[in-house]
Amino acid sequence: MAETHSLLIWCPLKEMKACDFRATQSTPKPKAALEILKQTAKVYTPAIFKLFEEEVLQTLNCDLFYCGDDGAEKVYKTRLHGKHHEHTVKFSPLESIVICSCKKFEFAGILCSHALKILDVNNIKYVPKNYILKRWTVDAKVLHISSMCNIHEDPKVKISNRYSTLCRIFNRIAVRASQSDEAYFISTKNAENLAEEIEKILKIRSESDLDNSCIPQGTYFLSHNYDPSS
Ligand SMILES: [Zn+2]
Repeated sequence: MAETHSLLIWCPLKEMKACDFRATQSTPKPKAALEILKQTAKVYTPAIFKLFEEEVLQTLNCDLFYCGDDGAEKVYKTRLHGKHHEHTVKFSPLESIVICSCKKFEFAGILCSHALKILDVNNIKYVPKNYILKRWTVDAKVLHISSMCNIHEDPKVKISNRYSTLCRIFNRIAVRASQSDEAYFISTKNAENLAEEIEKILKIRSESDLDNSCIPQGTYFLSHNYDPSS
């Protein structure tokens, strides 16, 4: 997401007009050379990929117990090594349907470590198509920045336009991100990183380069004291 926000800030307006803003412009580097990570690094947004990657690595901590099958469906129990709490995972090989009792997919939109463990032991080294939600992919247009950009040379008008555009962008994000705990968590986490990044950028510029008198009221959320959870 850091790359996303950098693009937002620095991409020249002409280029922004030439392309739709997408959730990512670079593919994250997986922590391990696993097929499932290579696949998802290309399709998931960086923030979602990071969460998914943790689930994949967590499969190594899962103990697995095969409970049998009824012909079409295999049933497993999984639990974290050394823990007692179990989850039941049902897997239909023909349809590549995997359902876990923890309901992480239903809640967060990514497969849990339990379901991924079952896919792995069944030699499925990729996420089945039906478990890659469009809204978490880099192909999903999350914002239409290009339509919001106006080239204007007057510095004060430029700042005012930028401010208006940013208000619209972050308002849209707030509306969407408030719909779920997961989206809210990702948003607040990235807001902290974004605020830090912006502060670094602004510090690099000399004081004389900044025309503070043109900064509209309401931009103080970028200060170091900003608490996105408040
Ligand atoms: Zn699960």
